[in-house]
Amino acid sequence: MDLSFSDSEEAFRADARAWLTANVPEEPLPSGDTAAGFARHKEWERRLFDDRWAVVSWPEAYGGRDASLWEWLIFEEEYYRAGAPQRVTQNGIFLLAPTLFELGTTEQQDRILPRMASGEETWCQGWSEPDAGSDLAGIRSNAVRDEAAGGWRLSGQKTWTTRGAFCDRMFGLFRSDPDAERHRGLTYYLVDLAADGVTVRGFGRLDGDEGFADVFLEDVFVPDADVLGEVNQGWGVAMATTGSERGLTLRSPGRFSATADRLVELYHDLGGDAADPVLRDDVVRGWMDAEAYRLQTLQTVTALSDGARPGAESSLTKLFWSELDVRLHDTALRLLGPDAELGGAWMKGYQFALSGPIYAGTNEIQRNVVAERVLGLPRK
Ligand SMILES: Cc1cc2nc3c(=O)[nH]c(=O)nc-3n(C[C@H](O)[C@H](O)[C@H](O)COP(=O)(O)OP(=O)(O)OC[C@H]3O[C@@H](n4cnc5c(N)ncnc54)[C@H](O)[C@@H]3O)c2cc1C
Repeated sequence: MDLSFSDSEEAFRADARAWLTANVPEEPLPSGDTAAGFARHKEWERRLFDDRWAVVSWPEAYGGRDASLWEWLIFEEEYYRAGAPQRVTQNGIFLLAPTLFELGTTEQQDRILPRMASGEETWCQGWSEPDAGSDLAGIRSNAVRDEAAGGWRLSGQKTWTTRGAFCDRMFGLFRSDPDAERHRGLTYYLVDLAADGVTVRGFGRLDGDEGFADVFLEDVFVPDADVLGEVNQGWGVAMATTGSERGLTLRSPGRFSATADRLVELYHDLGGDAADPVLRDDVVRGWMDAEAYRLQTLQTVTALSDGARPGAESSLTKLFWSELDVRLHDTALRLLGPDAELGGAWMKGYQFALSGPIYAGTNEIQRNVVAERVLGLPRK
């Protein structure tokens, strides 16, 4: 097995590194989960797009570089290594776009992808409802056919929509056939949040950022052109999106390798071997686990490059990266001791890491998926 990259891949890495070195803001931007920070991040996303670094693996026609998945991984490594800003376009680019490429019409791809890549149109995910989180098939928001107008009328409430308070559009699941079995009567819609009948109400997170939102819909018109996939087949479309969310694209290894490297730096800055041996072991373990995730991802990318689709194994990946993120940040806080309480990037990162076992499907649910669909264990 040859784990090294080719000359052209290394040249790609050098280009990415040079651009990031020249362009990443010296001062961190304010959080993209606040109104002011979101606006600043959109400017950054535009710069990435203008120099064709926003969506490297997409076709050139949509603003990409036709880069391979390997090159995309390299770009991600360099991006996090450079400490570049969080991607406020991520729910569009990393979740919706893979599904649009797989199941969208050419018209949808041509219309939506370039505006998504440039950050001109930002997307949030409208799945969870007050009474339907883990049990996603229990959603009640509904869609009623409007034959005369050539579309659908959507009503109901979505909640926990990340950055929904600032985004332009939302992809979401709605019940389009009330009589069908739970998983069969759902359709996947692309909703304009500026449409008549939409009310977006932002609310704060535990860490003080206000990017979450409830989205209320009252008879909101969505044209047929904004149905993604077949009517009443939304569950299958949503599962394609979760494959991306839990698997490769949302949380690439570069993110955790960079955190692990910073943890090692912190360990040395704070006196290195003077540290408690248990803490030292945790630093080493964190670094090794991040490396293990990187190596395991190379295997995933090999399979995807050979034509495989992300399947139930993406639940294993999600379990691993979410728990790794908590461990890395927890170790940093223990290294910092009482100073951790003063706030700073490690504390903020820790608070967000704690939500990793919840979003993208809770880890309890992922364990059920692994038990039933990867290991083939009985449901009860
Ligand atoms: C930071 C963050 C961002 C998010 N962003 C979005 C977003 O952009 N869009 C969106 O639609 N949603 C978003 N969510 C919501 C997220 O998807 C839900 O919180 C998640 O699916 C869990 O649903 P719930 O909160 O309703 O908890 P519940 O489903 O009520 O679960 C409560 C507890 O019961 C456990 N549980 C439930 N069912 C089972 C079972 N069958 N077996 C074992 N244990 C079970 C769960 O694991 C959990 O511990 C976000 C959440 C967070 C934390």
